[in-house]
Amino acid sequence: MSIPTENVGSLPRPTKLQQAIADYDAGKIDHDVLVAEQDAACLDSIKRMEATGSPMVTDGEQRASSFATYPITDTLAGTGLADNLAADGQYFAIFEDGHHRQLPRLTGGPFRYKTYAADYLVKAIDMASKPVKQAVIAPSMLALLYPLDQDVPGYRREAFEEDLVDECAKDIRKCFDAGAVRVSIDFTEGRLACKNDPRNPWTGRHMLNHFIDLNNRVLDRFSAEERINIGVHTCPGGDCDSTHSADVDYAELLPSLFQIDAGYFLIQLASEPDKERVYKLCGEHSREDANGVPQVCFIGVINPQNPEVETPEQVCADLVLASQYIPKERLGSTDDCGFSPFSIDVKPKHGSPDFARDIAFQKIKARVDGTRMASVELGMA
Ligand SMILES: [Zn+2]
Repeated sequence: MSIPTENVGSLPRPTKLQQAIADYDAGKIDHDVLVAEQDAACLDSIKRMEATGSPMVTDGEQRASSFATYPITDTLAGTGLADNLAADGQYFAIFEDGHHRQLPRLTGGPFRYKTYAADYLVKAIDMASKPVKQAVIAPSMLALLYPLDQDVPGYRREAFEEDLVDECAKDIRKCFDAGAVRVSIDFTEGRLACKNDPRNPWTGRHMLNHFIDLNNRVLDRFSAEERINIGVHTCPGGDCDSTHSADVDYAELLPSLFQIDAGYFLIQLASEPDKERVYKLCGEHSREDANGVPQVCFIGVINPQNPEVETPEQVCADLVLASQYIPKERLGSTDDCGFSPFSIDVKPKHGSPDFARDIAFQKIKARVDGTRMASVELGMA
């Protein structure tokens, strides 16, 4: 068995698509015109990802407003916001470069998704000739829709979280029913929960254990056999080539993270200053038996925020070093994050989203080729 490799999910939206989204928000174009641009961007994403030799592909989340908000709004500007939500929620994150992203605010119940990831997935599968994976958002992120210190009239937090767990489980179930080979849960707020940023009050409330608990309530709905193909992604954020929690020591997160009963983890690592120490932590804290499944550690070998393309030799060297700490049967490779988790992203360090797309496919190819090299070197191919 060779070393598995997979991407997180997103790719930069082409400049033309980002312009179409702005025009749609401004009422200048109809929904059909926007969808035609999304179709073109999805097809291009899938064909180019297939050309890298990747064993599985995604549509690059070209239809999603963001990795976190796709279930509840059509665009980041709030066009098509779901029922029982207002635009003025709490900040999700304040990034290193000073920009922030804000969530909507829950104003009443019941909480329901208006769009499921499978709604995008079925169209991607139609376009693809290779197996397709799908990323979904974690319940822990959407838990932040509920105001931090106030009650929503007539809708207790506990009732909301029951509905939320139901919706997240349904989101994953629908992906498998539609034909996804893998489903990974984006859990970027895990590392951020370990940070205490006074500008962003929720980060100081020790919410990590509650987040882990919510995620496990969703995973409990799936059999061990299904959870082999359900992953969890951790990262310090990725938006406009900036992060929100890279200063949080992984030692604060990983012991809790691996308490999630998922079959695999997509772990940002290429951009860590001391990778070897984190490989060691992964080896120590990942479990051989997580309620019936072994936890496979997919280490990040590609940094999507840096335009410099990694070489296959670098990728191979990272995996070989990691195999000293993580059993090779439980080792995989991934990118540190999606290449553009939010739809509107000019990729400033790259100069343009179109150039960043070209770079992204080169990086994915380096990961695929380097992982194959490591499989040979470790006697697995
Ligand atoms: Zn990420």
